Amino acid sequence: MSDTLPVVETFHSLQGEGHHTGRSAFFIRLAGCTVGCPWCDTKHSWPEQAHPRRHITELIEDAAHAVEAGAEFTVITGGEPLHHNLEALTNGVREATRQPLHLETSGVDSLSGHFDWITLSPKRHRPPQQELLEQCHELKVVIQDNADLVFAEAMAERVKTDVKLLLQAEWSRATAQQLVIQRTKKSPRWRLSHQMHKSLGIR
Ligand code: SF4
Repeated sequence: MSDTLPVVETFHSLQGEGHHTGRSAFFIRLAGCTVGCPWCDTKHSWPEQAHPRRHITELIEDAAHAVEAGAEFTVITGGEPLHHNLEALTNGVREATRQPLHLETSGVDSLSGHFDWITLSPKRHRPPQQELLEQCHELKVVIQDNADLVFAEAMAERVKTDVKLLLQAEWSRATAQQLVIQRTKKSPRWRLSHQMHKSLGIR
């Protein structure tokens, strides 16, 4: 296991999407993603080598400072964070912050590390591992078209009954927003996830 991880950025902000929208959080955005979603809004995170490797102890210290400044939890995101072994990072952050740890993942890799909240955002072209479907707390599916809605329903059948279900429109398509609104109105099981941080112009 490496003592360093490739990091795009770390920042203290508000959670901008999903079930915990609007809450103060510290984000660690790890570099590297091979999933290749065409509409990805963090394509700069894909090449791992384009980003500096930072020592895990530095990231743990940054998380502890953010919690002192008001962050309620730490979010490990990416890129695809599970391309890396997250055991040492999550153990260290938990010990230093005594606050919950959240993960945002597409679920294409096996789970590593220990989390209090897992947001699974599965992709139709690279379906997730069963392990992540079984362990997630939130299923957040990005919707471009009707086929994505069918995929979202299929994924929802495979998660636990208390998992939060969210539909989020692909950010560059107005038609996707309408699809999500219409489906959410008809299906009380689903909630709409809006990318609040983009509207507010925050990270
Ligand atoms: Fe982008 Fe996430 Fe898809 Fe990777 S999994 S391409 S980071 S949206």
